[in-house]
Amino acid sequence: MPKADVMIRISVSALLAVFFCHTLTAGAAERPNFVVIFCDDLGYGDLSCFGHPSIKTPHLDAMAAEGQKWTNFYVAACVCTPSRAGLLTGRLPIRNGMCSDTRRVLFPDSSGGLPTSEITIASALKKEGYRTAAVGKWHLGHLPEFLPTSHGFESYLGIPYSNDMDKLDKIDQFLLAEQEKFTSYNVPLLRNKEVIERPTDQRTITKRYTEEAVKKIGEFKEEPFFIYLAHSLPHIPLFRSAEFKDTSANGIYGDVIEEIDWSVGQVRKALKETGVLENTLVVFTSDNGPWERFKTHGGSAGMLRDGKGSTWEGGMREPTVVSWPGTLKPGTVTEIGATLDLLPTFVSLAGGNLPEDRIYDGHDLSDFLKGKTDKSPREAVFYYHGEQLFAVRKGNYKVHFKTKTSYVKQKQAEVHDPALLYHLGHDPGEEWNIAPENPEIIEELTALADEHRKGIKPVKSHLTGRIGE
Ligand code: MG
Repeated sequence: MPKADVMIRISVSALLAVFFCHTLTAGAAERPNFVVIFCDDLGYGDLSCFGHPSIKTPHLDAMAAEGQKWTNFYVAACVCTPSRAGLLTGRLPIRNGMCSDTRRVLFPDSSGGLPTSEITIASALKKEGYRTAAVGKWHLGHLPEFLPTSHGFESYLGIPYSNDMDKLDKIDQFLLAEQEKFTSYNVPLLRNKEVIERPTDQRTITKRYTEEAVKKIGEFKEEPFFIYLAHSLPHIPLFRSAEFKDTSANGIYGDVIEEIDWSVGQVRKALKETGVLENTLVVFTSDNGPWERFKTHGGSAGMLRDGKGSTWEGGMREPTVVSWPGTLKPGTVTEIGATLDLLPTFVSLAGGNLPEDRIYDGHDLSDFLKGKTDKSPREAVFYYHGEQLFAVRKGNYKVHFKTKTSYVKQKQAEVHDPALLYHLGHDPGEEWNIAPENPEIIEELTALADEHRKGIKPVKSHLTGRIGE
């Protein structure tokens, strides 16, 4: 081969190598980071950007103004454990045994947890080269094989279940909170799988979760990352740092929410200071609606009906704020979305593919977020109460086959035959049953529910077993 030809071939190869190398680097840089901030029992009406008149949430309000406020965003269940399982796996809890009609969440004596055969957002993104950290409440199993570090997270700092568990004292939860008696709940604080504090001093828990999340942002800034920051609050009992004590016009509940809002500000500041704010999709929402029986210590679902534990809108529609500066078109989004959609959306934005060996209930919202379409791919919501499908929403119509008001108000679910029907646009508070005038809509939604049920193969619940059984 003539010498000139060899030189040309080498030069072309070198140029191609530089081109591909550059393309790969550029591709990697475009993959966004993900931060999910997940509250516990925050109501639809508890943020000032969602209309609360006496709780101030300036950081979330700013995030909503620069980003998007989602007014039709749902969780996978109306209580903690199944809701969290749905968010992290993109699958309805009925598909993986993370719900139950008898024990609705996991407890400190539970022997079960999220099966390791499930793929979480963290394990899916880790496969795509993402760094991962979990901070806060877990509630998907406190035994070592179920903890975040067994589910794709590199690290974990948090209380592994609800902050009102391991209760030692019998005095009421209002007094405990007012007296700041965190020692009344013997809940452990875990670093990865080790207990580092017990009882956890919950007065500083929001502050310490925030510091951990900020530290992880600094640690991960050069690589794509996923941080799951799941606050233990405002679940009862309420605690807040000294700086937030008696500062809110809303009282102790407002103090707690305003500290969480401060935390959002700290996370966004850290993203900005490390130069990754514009390449980070932040989602703020809650696991279920407000725990209304706790009066002023519980939140408000605003104009939505009922709260935590029920399939009325107040139990499962959450105040949701999403930010991704430079990519999201700012504004209020009235299309439907759900925590179930986060896994498919994140995997798609990370350049990965969903595993094909299982059924997903989430939709990929990435084209909608990028403004490539003005329709969310999610048209329907299935409202589960434990293992039973109680209601279905399609478009603006919602049909209830069964209802049960939250927790203590009603012992047995009420069966509706004929079903109840509401138009959530005309009647967000679900006050006016329009079933008698709309038999064809009931028929359509009943057929949708039947079709959905046909695709469900219930598996054994992981929530019912107890340690030592
Ligand atoms: Mg909750």
